[in-house]
Amino acid sequence: MDKTLLAQLTAALNEEQVKLQAEINKISHKGVDGEVAIDFPSHGESEDENAAEVAEFSDNLSLESELEDGLKDIRSALKAIENGTYGKCKYCQNTIDVQRLLARPTSTSCIACKKTLTQEV
Ligand SMILES: [Zn+2]
Repeated sequence: MDKTLLAQLTAALNEEQVKLQAEINKISHKGVDGEVAIDFPSHGESEDENAAEVAEFSDNLSLESELEDGLKDIRSALKAIENGTYGKCKYCQNTIDVQRLLARPTSTSCIACKKTLTQEV
């Protein structure tokens, strides 16, 4: 793959990684054991406020796991760039369309395979 393009995609991935990490930091903190813990929101002591806190906490829980998944994808894309395996479809081994990678640098399958997969569902 073209070096300039690869550098551009690496930059995009790094930028996205920083963004996701910042989002995670916003709703969580590192616990004493080093594990990520979701912040428990505090709005007040009334019943309504407590209910809102629980709802927000549960939203944050699922948001955090989504963000973590995103981070995982980014890390494996960066790893693939390092290993020189980036940009290959994991199903058919063909090169993934550059436009697709630019739009979504964490893509691991080509459009044709993606289409086949979605049709199967
Ligand atoms: Zn493919």
